[in-house]
Amino acid sequence: MADPHLTGLGPVVHDEVVAPRAPWLHRVRKDQVLRIVDLEGNQAVDFLVYAADDDAERYCAQTTVAAQRNLFLRTGATLLSNEGRPLMTIAATNVAYHDTIGGACSCESNTLRYGHHTKSQHACVDNFLDANVRVGRGKRDMVSNINFFMNVPVEADGALGIVDGISAPGLTVDLVAAMDVDVVVSNCPQINNPCNGFNPTAIRMIVSDPA
Ligand SMILES: [Zn+2]
Repeated sequence: MADPHLTGLGPVVHDEVVAPRAPWLHRVRKDQVLRIVDLEGNQAVDFLVYAADDDAERYCAQTTVAAQRNLFLRTGATLLSNEGRPLMTIAATNVAYHDTIGGACSCESNTLRYGHHTKSQHACVDNFLDANVRVGRGKRDMVSNINFFMNVPVEADGALGIVDGISAPGLTVDLVAAMDVDVVVSNCPQINNPCNGFNPTAIRMIVSDPA
């Protein structure tokens, strides 16, 4: 039987299942497609992207949101850098929208929000640092991230929620690289709010050449 997660992709050049709670770092070349598969559903995928040639250029949430005049990422959205250039474009997604504002969980924020007993729990900021340090990046290279498959609704009065997800097993997001980029992901370990259904699960990262 054909692998349903590969439908529509060109030749696959990298295919990896990322364990629950783990980081992931990979270079995606211009015009290649990165498909992220939410294997079991409602798994937040915290996501950063840097220009490969000069990583002082990186994803900028404010520039991206302002340019598209919308807080959510949907099919057709372009992820812009701090220099206003396209890094990647969402070519397709079968999830209604993805989050730009919820940020990454950290031991510090967990302690503030959920109590001191959570201090030792693994968090996305640790994953980002773990992945980035392999290529010489550190704390000063951390910027506001995207949360794919995470539901952070904004109420009429501006209030935010982190609520039950709108993703489901096997749903995907396809990102086309507009330039050579380094993608850094944290497969979110959070267990104190519903962003992962209180049960972090594996994701699949597939990189393909153009179809
Ligand atoms: Zn997290």
